[in-house]
Amino acid sequence: MKKQDVLIIGSGVAGMTVAINLAERRPDLSITVLNKTRQGESNTSWAQGGVASVWNENLNNFEKHIEDTLDAGDGLCDRDIVEIVVTEGPQRVKEMIQWGTRFDKEENGGYDLGREGGHSENRILHYKDKTGWEIQRAILEKGADYDNITVVEDAFAIELITQHHLGRVVTSATPHIECYGVYVMEKNNQARIEPYLARTTILASGGAGQVYRSTTNPVVATGDGIAMMFRARGTIQDMEFVQFHPTALYTPEGNPGSALPDFLISEAVRGYGAILKTLDGKEFMHKYDPRGSLAPRDIVARAIDREMKIHGWDYVYLDCRHLDAEGFTTHFPTILHKCRSIGIDPFTQYIPITPACHYICGGIRVDQYGRSSIDRLYACGEVACTGLHGANRLASNSLLEGMVFGYRIAEDISHRIGSWDWNEEVPEWDAQGTTEPDEMVLITQSIKELKEIMSSYVGIVRSNVRLERALNRLHTLYKETEELYQSTTLSPQLAELRNLITNGYLITKQASFRKESRGLHYNTDYPEKLPFKDHMFL
Ligand SMILES: Cc1cc2nc3c(=O)[nH]c(=O)nc-3n(C[C@H](O)[C@H](O)[C@H](O)COP(=O)(O)OP(=O)(O)OC[C@H]3O[C@@H](n4cnc5c(N)ncnc54)[C@H](O)[C@@H]3O)c2cc1C
Repeated sequence: MKKQDVLIIGSGVAGMTVAINLAERRPDLSITVLNKTRQGESNTSWAQGGVASVWNENLNNFEKHIEDTLDAGDGLCDRDIVEIVVTEGPQRVKEMIQWGTRFDKEENGGYDLGREGGHSENRILHYKDKTGWEIQRAILEKGADYDNITVVEDAFAIELITQHHLGRVVTSATPHIECYGVYVMEKNNQARIEPYLARTTILASGGAGQVYRSTTNPVVATGDGIAMMFRARGTIQDMEFVQFHPTALYTPEGNPGSALPDFLISEAVRGYGAILKTLDGKEFMHKYDPRGSLAPRDIVARAIDREMKIHGWDYVYLDCRHLDAEGFTTHFPTILHKCRSIGIDPFTQYIPITPACHYICGGIRVDQYGRSSIDRLYACGEVACTGLHGANRLASNSLLEGMVFGYRIAEDISHRIGSWDWNEEVPEWDAQGTTEPDEMVLITQSIKELKEIMSSYVGIVRSNVRLERALNRLHTLYKETEELYQSTTLSPQLAELRNLITNGYLITKQASFRKESRGLHYNTDYPEKLPFKDHMFL
């Protein structure tokens, strides 16, 4: 049994921000940070565009950033949370800089602030076109400076430990579910599953993009935290709001089963002046929105989806040929390199692009200190639903959210941890099945089926029939997978399949509850918005 004061699942921007802030405040606490695979394999590492933050108050101001965020969120943002993130954000970004993060500067020494879809001002701090890589590098290096932070690789969190594992039920006498830590599969230790006890636990396990066939998210993004929380009977909110990035690089062979995510052509490229065009070279975005190629992501993704469906195309084009080659090369070296590696020269040729699942706005419902509905359990980053994004995330607000909530959680824990002790009664992991699975194909094929169901029926455009069909198909997959789980030894692949099915179910179920189209959720049977605004919980 492994004991630590604080257990953090995930070392992306959210998890490491908690760890560093807490280590700084409380050198007396032992802090363990788990990674499912190697450290640095995270959505954070892939972020390109940057961090939105009010930097120069002469040119910009908090109110505009707040209004842009509320506007994107389509009526479902929590204004208090938006104000917290926008106003506390600049201080958190300054800390990132103190911890060693570099952001691009102009010749006069000021930060080079970019602009993305939905932003009314230039306010995106960035490091070339690999801001996330730079942040991830800096926070892992900073974390290594603290003796009381231990970062563990290949440690796969399988299940939250609650009263349920002690054979106790939650009653009116003990009305709250409590979390005592996590069961962890140690991949380097013959996949043994060990209880990791903690006085408090933080889920910072990132998103669930792998639920869909095309995604910009890396393989670790299988929604494990959301699924564990759901199984532990915690509250999950707003899962129907899935953001599809409009411009992932299209390659004819596609990305099925690939270990690499679909490569993203950052929104900043459109901010820099690139224009979306049909396969016959015509600009089409002004038919859908007066802001043209700079309209918010959901509008652009739906417009591309519609053009592709009308014409039967697999992709449309992004035209960069008119852009300043020198500036493009400086700002977007990774994108340029990637395009050239597949034989496309953006200065003379169109870039083929297609929408791909990018970000889950919903997740574990938390309050303004990142506290979840389960006692002693916090959540932050993409796994959490704070109320910042509402029905649609404004570009480059998520890294900022991870920093702000990571800080708030560290502060909250440093005051509250004194009242929590370890629960020593936690039993060893109770393995369900004991036989090795005969055929891995049962798992790999189910993952493919799940992605097909979600992409075909619960993608950018939905309908009642599609959602119903998806729920029926998901139910079959769920039953088959639970039978496998009861009878065979648990493998990382089987654990991920269970989690992906749960995420698919949550997205589809909450989408079917919503009898309107709002933000990222578009249902052809209810194309209008309802006058009242509500969240969907499960
Ligand atoms: C291609 C791309 C571009 C993006 N661009 C931007 C941008 O420009 N600006 C912006 O603000 N946002 C951007 N985003 C979104 C942003 O990167 C993410 O929302 C954010 O980084 C999430 O951080 P996180 O700390 O919550 O999770 P992650 O960074 O994804 O970290 C998750 C961590 O959890 C661990 N983990 C997961 N499951 C388990 C488990 N079961 N057991 C143990 N460990 C586990 C992983 O190993 C990893 O360490 C982008 C995302 C992508 C994919």
